[in-house]
Amino acid sequence: MNTMILKIVPGGAFVENTYILQSKNSKELILVDPGSQTLEIEESLSDLSFTSIHIWNTHGHLDHAYGADYFIKKYKADFNIHKKEIPILQAMTTAASRFGIPEFSDAVVPEIDSFIEEERQYEVGNLNFKTLLVPGHSPGSICFHFTRELNPEEGLEEDLMICGDTVFAGSVGRVDLTGGTNMEELLGNITKKILTLKESTILFPGHGPRTTVEIEKESNPFLSGMFNG
Ligand SMILES: [Zn+2]
Ligand SMILES: [Zn+2]
Repeated sequence: MNTMILKIVPGGAFVENTYILQSKNSKELILVDPGSQTLEIEESLSDLSFTSIHIWNTHGHLDHAYGADYFIKKYKADFNIHKKEIPILQAMTTAASRFGIPEFSDAVVPEIDSFIEEERQYEVGNLNFKTLLVPGHSPGSICFHFTRELNPEEGLEEDLMICGDTVFAGSVGRVDLTGGTNMEELLGNITKKILTLKESTILFPGHGPRTTVEIEKESNPFLSGMFNG
């Protein structure tokens, strides 16, 4: 049922990953974290057939939400984010002037259509996923957990998780940016909520390459020591 197209569009000053997801039997698609690389995202959209876009954000930092307003206006996309990210989104314009990067100078705070609830199963455009709240990098950081069918006849499937700026390949999110709390909270939440998933789960972070739960459990220097007993 979840025969899924997944495209990764890295770009912008912070080389942020925007994700495009679409079920092969739906005309609706999900855009996760549209950053400032709107041209590259448009290019990736151009070979897909769709009638509507739903934006689901992992969190509200500038590099993940800058493009939202563009897609809301151009495609009448709806915008969904956790309630605790409201102050982070509202800080977008001040963050933009603080960084002083030209591509962010005209940042517009996107209008929110609905709030994402944690630990909930959603179905959007024929895709099913579960939301996990993993605070630390920001108070309402959400991960989206999908199961993708590989070979329906044999019942083969794989688990994918879009994990925003919580955990990266060999690293973890910063806690000193807008809305960040502390490293202990972040590491505790990653350990409890992400590293307990199936080891083969593929993690798709907000920056950098994909990884797996197994790899991060074994070799992430921030998380090593958590599994020594
Ligand atoms: Zn962030
Ligand atoms: Zn980021």
